[in-house]
Amino acid sequence: MATAIITGASQGIGACIAKRLAKDGFDVVINYYPSESSKEKALAVAAECEAFGVKTLCIGADVSKFDQCEAMVKQTKAEFGTIDVLVNNAGITKDTLLARMKEEDYDAVIAVNQKSIYNMLKHTCAVMMKQRHGRIVNISSVAGLYGNPGQVNYSASKAAIIGMTKTVAKEFGSRNITCNAVAPGLIRTPMTDVLSDELKAKMLSAVALGRYGEPEEVASVVSFLASEDSSYITGQVIEISGGLSM
Ligand code: NAP
Repeated sequence: MATAIITGASQGIGACIAKRLAKDGFDVVINYYPSESSKEKALAVAAECEAFGVKTLCIGADVSKFDQCEAMVKQTKAEFGTIDVLVNNAGITKDTLLARMKEEDYDAVIAVNQKSIYNMLKHTCAVMMKQRHGRIVNISSVAGLYGNPGQVNYSASKAAIIGMTKTVAKEFGSRNITCNAVAPGLIRTPMTDVLSDELKAKMLSAVALGRYGEPEEVASVVSFLASEDSSYITGQVIEISGGLSM
C-alpha cells in the first residue's frame, strides 16, 4: 500500500485532499497543528478516510518547526515503511496592507507557508530518493502568481513555493520524483469564510466561472498529480481558479 502525508489536514482543502487520497487507496498521514481542537478535527477526518479501507495516522506537528517535521517523517516511515506522496498544504494568512503589516505577521506567514516546505522536503526527499520514486504537490495560490493587495506576506510565501517546486523538480527528476504545485483561486473553506463580503464580491466578479471553487475541485487535481497518470509532469504550476486570470 502506498503512503501519503498531507500537512494541515484537519480542515479545509487539506482534509479534502486526505479523503480523496484515501479514496484513491493511499494510507494517509493526517498532520494537524498540535492543539486539542485540531486533534479532534484530525481524528474525525481520519475516521472518514478509514471508511475507504485504508490505514491512517494523525500526527500533531507545527510544520514551521524543523524538528517537528523531522519527527513526523520518521514516525511515518516507521509506521508505513514508505512515503510515496507529500502534499504540502498547511497555510495561514495574516492580511493587511504593507504599510500596516507588523514584522511578526510577515515572519509568521513566511514560517508556516514557506519554511515549512523546506522542513518537509528536507526530510522526505531523503526517503523518496532511496525509494527512487515520489510525488510532491505543493499548494501555492493565485496570490503567488499575480499578487494581491493586503497579502504581501502571503503572496511572497506562495511565490517562493513556485520557485522551490521548479528547483526540486530539477534536482530530483533523475530519481523519478516529480514536484508540482497547484495555485487555487477563491476556494470555499474556513480561510475564505472570514473575508469581507466586499472583498469576496470583488474577487468573484473576476472569476470566469462566476462562483467559488470547492475543496474537492482542488483535491481532484492533487489526486491526478499524486498518481501514475501524471508521470511525465514535473515542475509545473496548475491554476485552479475558475478562470480568475487569463
Ligand atoms: P484552512 O481551512 O485555514 O486550513 C489550513 C490548515 O492548515 C488547517 O488544517 C490548519 O490547522 C493547518 N495549519 C495552519 N498552521 C499550521 C502549522 N503551523 N502546522 C500544521 N498545520 C497548520 O485553509 P484552506 O483554505 O484549506 O487552505 C489550505 C491551503 O490552500 C493553504 O496553503 C492555503 O494558503 C491554500 N489556498 C487556499 C485558498 C482558498 O481560497 N481557500 C486559495 C489559495 C490557496 P488548524 O486549523 O488546526 O490551525
